[in-house]
Amino acid sequence: MLNATIVKRLDITKDLMILQVKPDSGVPDFVPGQYVALALGENGALEGTGKKPRLIRRAYSIGSPPHEKQYIEFYVAVVAGGELTPKIAALGEGDRIFVTPKITGTFTLANVPQGSDLVLISTGTGIAPYMSMLRTPETWVPGRRIRMVHGVRYTSDLAYSDELSTLSEAREDFEYYSIVSRPDSSWQGYKGYVQNLIKDKTIELDPARDHVFLCGNPAMITDMEALLTGIGFREHTKRQPGNMHLEKYW
Ligand SMILES: Cc1cc2nc3c(=O)[nH]c(=O)nc-3n(C[C@H](O)[C@H](O)[C@H](O)COP(=O)(O)OP(=O)(O)OC[C@H]3O[C@@H](n4cnc5c(N)ncnc54)[C@H](O)[C@@H]3O)c2cc1C
Repeated sequence: MLNATIVKRLDITKDLMILQVKPDSGVPDFVPGQYVALALGENGALEGTGKKPRLIRRAYSIGSPPHEKQYIEFYVAVVAGGELTPKIAALGEGDRIFVTPKITGTFTLANVPQGSDLVLISTGTGIAPYMSMLRTPETWVPGRRIRMVHGVRYTSDLAYSDELSTLSEAREDFEYYSIVSRPDSSWQGYKGYVQNLIKDKTIELDPARDHVFLCGNPAMITDMEALLTGIGFREHTKRQPGNMHLEKYW
């Protein structure tokens, strides 16, 4: 029943890993920002058990771009006491996993006008959908400014920082801000929570021009939503177009 193979595992810390997973039937088409469910049987992998165990499935944003057809990339945090992630953490390269065939989600750039700028704000693994967006050429509309904000607890949690720093050095239209809430003494960058960067106007927002995306920790999103609503942003919903897009991970 398992339908995909882990082809690469990169451990960022003992609780954070990047997985590249190759579905047997190939990588389906999707749009940057979308997610898919990963699943395992209740007692680990399903294969060879002979019975039909309950599938434990959870949603994971895709970090790779749609043109990458060799694998789908995920950035997974291991939740202590969680049902699925400790099981995923026990897997290695060559191990099998279930990827639900349906890729879904509306946390995409589909409703952002070409003339708008992007502010991509995340905590922890909430950076994944933005990696897919930034790795996709169509995101880079000429004249569009893109700012990326990544908040983490520890400096070692700053996955993708090399790729993002290189990108910000190479492109005038891209700025990368990382902020650490519990930094070690060697950290020279921003300290605190992503909200601080908006409150102290390190990052200035303009509701007439910016589309803000918020992804990850629900407490951060609730906080930011209140902050942004106060300065004229409105949540995008199916019924009412807006310039604030939300993806709460739990
Ligand atoms: C649309 C969407 C996309 C998602 N994408 C990702 C992703 O790219 N990477 C990723 O790691 N997770 C992602 N998640 C979260 C993921 O689906 C699971 O909730 C998470 O991996 C925990 O699963 P679990 O079975 O181990 O824990 P569970 O047994 O489901 O959860 C135990 C408890 O832990 C809490 N919890 C869940 N996630 C976290 C977390 N990251 N940190 C702290 N507490 C948490 C919840 O309150 C929950 O009650 C996404 C969720 C959604 C809805």
